[in-house]
Amino acid sequence: MTSMETAFIVHGIELTLVRKDVRHVRISIHPPDGRVRVSAPRHLTDAAIRRMLAPKLPWICRKQAEVLHRDQQPRLELVTGEHHFHFGQRYRLLVIENAGRPGVSLVGDTMELRVPPAASVEKRAAVLERWYRAQLSENVRRLLGEWERRLGVVASEVRIRRMRTRWGSCNTRARRIWVNLELAKRPHACLEYVLVHELVHLLEPSHGRRFWSLMDEFMPQWRQHRDALRSSSGPTTLADGDA
Ligand SMILES: [Zn+2]
Repeated sequence: MTSMETAFIVHGIELTLVRKDVRHVRISIHPPDGRVRVSAPRHLTDAAIRRMLAPKLPWICRKQAEVLHRDQQPRLELVTGEHHFHFGQRYRLLVIENAGRPGVSLVGDTMELRVPPAASVEKRAAVLERWYRAQLSENVRRLLGEWERRLGVVASEVRIRRMRTRWGSCNTRARRIWVNLELAKRPHACLEYVLVHELVHLLEPSHGRRFWSLMDEFMPQWRQHRDALRSSSGPTTLADGDA
């Protein structure tokens, strides 16, 4: 689906306007700098969009402040005592330095991170990330088989990557789905929602009425999962930017 991006300024706030096949104007605010993106139906004039955005400005400013504040929080250093998440569960990190094979194990409410002695923060992060990828990939595989059957679609592949602004995306022509690595830290239902959302795009590429009625049919509680994603930190847009 083609879309056209233009820069737009409303009362001093710069935003990216994307005209595409959507029914409603939608505003999203993105980390790390609070960039504002507005998607709008193709037929709306600039003046009409400005009129609609004006009353939303206080909300936009508030959200921008939240995003900026959030990204100023100190980065985790991967040291013992920090809290880390695995599918919505919180664990206390225990860094174990030894000569054995690097890796991660969950023991009770402890996340044991085994690394070589004096491993740098980058090295520790790499071990943890590899584990998150493997965990996510295993869960994707399990969900994928089940949902492909239910929806009667087949994705050519599902790949994992870090994404700053999206939880997932779907290239409908290549039938390839991407999911955000961060989903390994969120409740399992969030991963399921994003995956089902992207698979439903193989039936209906747009976010038109048919798309949402398919979501209602196959995952009646999808709004609840979407709200869980919205209330967590991370991308402020869902799935591919319009959900
Ligand atoms: Zn979508």
